[in-house]
This record gives sequence, structure tokens and C-alpha cells, in this order.
Amino acid sequence: MRFTPKCCLFVLILCLVSYSSQAKQIALSFDDAPRDAGPMFSGAERTAQLIKSLREANSGPTVFFVKTSGMETEEGRARIEQYANAGHLIANHTHSHWWLNRTETDSYLADIDQAESLLQGLPNRRPWFRFPYLDEGRPIAQRNAMRQALQERGLKNGYVTVDNFDWYLARQWQRAVEEGRWVNHHALKTVYLDMLMSAVEFYDELAASHIGRSPAHVLLLHENDLAAIYVDELIERLRDNGWDIVSPDTAYADPIAKYQAQTLFAWQGRIAAIASDRGVPHTELRHYSSQEAALDKLLSERGVFDKPTSDFTILNPQ
Ligand SMILES: [Zn+2]
Repeated sequence: MRFTPKCCLFVLILCLVSYSSQAKQIALSFDDAPRDAGPMFSGAERTAQLIKSLREANSGPTVFFVKTSGMETEEGRARIEQYANAGHLIANHTHSHWWLNRTETDSYLADIDQAESLLQGLPNRRPWFRFPYLDEGRPIAQRNAMRQALQERGLKNGYVTVDNFDWYLARQWQRAVEEGRWVNHHALKTVYLDMLMSAVEFYDELAASHIGRSPAHVLLLHENDLAAIYVDELIERLRDNGWDIVSPDTAYADPIAKYQAQTLFAWQGRIAAIASDRGVPHTELRHYSSQEAALDKLLSERGVFDKPTSDFTILNPQ
């Protein structure tokens, strides 16, 4: 084969096309497992539903960051074993879920160690630690002491790249049920999925601007009823939008895993921290998915908790 200029141009175009059509990567993570009963499921039902939904969507491994105080009951422990036995990865989210900056570092570390001992012996363990509330410590001395202590324990920061308040939507749903209000489940689903998709794109664009590429992302979710019901549709929408669901092992092998932020602005994930280090004002790093007022507005606009009015009947005679 002769390499004429025309031939070289063709190869270059082929490379560019294949690069641009390469799927972007995202791993799913679920915090706070095993959580209590929600508006739809008991804890045990939720675990069964979530495992089933993930299997049917061919998610491959996801990761559950366990709050081990929930494993003190037989049922709680059994649920974490079920996630692990289904092939999902298991990692540390402390025993008691304290805010680090409101806790003495030594007590906090003892709480991490207690969680590690309760997780011992489970299959698919990973040496990852996710800070509750994504609070990595303040002031700098505490943040640095924690980094050192995690390193001594062989634990790596199980950071997120896509923050969002899925927990807030779940809480508003729970409240509505407790107050006996109407719940439009279809509208709730669209708010949840639209919020997550928009957050994923927001942080990916931020990554494009500040690290010049799309990294392997880690999406923050919680082990709640919203995830149990809608995670299969979430995966479908991600795939439809050019995303591959990858193992958290793949995501945490991305070079950004080694990044040590200077900023204390850690609570919106790693991409936001990188952008903060590059001087981006924090107001520009907050997507609507991390703002309670914006989420309340969306829930209201879409009538998630409104009883259908008689107008609904008139507009929809069938
Ligand atoms: Zn948590």
C-alpha cells in the first residue's frame, strides 16, 4: 500500500471519527446502603428490586458504599451480602455517617476502622472510602491529616465526579406520602431522570473545559426507592446518549483518581474541585441538581405532588 497524501488524509479522518464516536464512560455508585424502608419498598424489597433492575439492564458491577451501622441487624447484613454476591462491589462509607468537619479526626478514623472490620470477609470488597456528605475535612490541617490516615490504611478516596441531590427528591417523595398527598409517579420519574442526565452532561462539559477530555465518571446515587425503580431507565437513557456503563474499577483507574486538590471545595465532586483549583468561581460549579430550591421549583412545575384537577378531565376526555 502506498501512502499518498490522499491516503494519509483518509486515515486521519478515520481516526478523528472513531475518537469522537468513542463512548463516554460512567460508573454507578450507591451510597448509604442498607437504607431503611422508603415510600414504596421495605429495605429487603428494595435490595431485591435494585439487584434485579441492575441485572436486567446488564449494568455489570456497580459499587455500594456501606454505612455499616445498618449491618448491625441480621437483615441489614444479609442485604449487603446480597449486593456483594450479585457481583457488585462493596466499600466503606463509615459506620455512623458523621460530618468530618464537625468531628474530631481521631473519632472519625475509629468510625472508619469499625466499618472496615464489619465489612471484613465480604466478597468483592474494594479499598475505597467515600466521605459522607463529600466532606473531606476543614481546615486544611484536618483535610491533610485525613489524606495521610487513609493512605496509612491503604484506603483510596472513593470520589464522585457527578454530584446531585437524588436524596432530596427521595425525601420530598417520602414526605408527600407521609402527608397523604397525591404522587404523580410519571412526573416524579421525569424529574429524577432529567436531573441526573443534566447533571452528567454538566460535569462532563466542565471536565472538557478544565481537563480537556471526558474522564471515566463516577455518578453519585443513593440506595433509595427512586434508584430501585428507575435505575434501568437511567441506564437506558445514558446508553442512548452515548455513555457506556463501566465498572467502578475502570472509573477509579482514570488519571483523575490521583489528583490531589488544593481547594477545600470538595463537596461537589472531583471535577468541580479541579475546576475550583483552576480559579472557576464556586457559583459556576453548582448545577441545579444540587440546589433544593431549584428542585422544589421543578417538582412544582411538573405537578409531581398535585392532585389532577377537573381541567385534566376536560383536556383529556378519554
Ligand atoms: Zn452518605
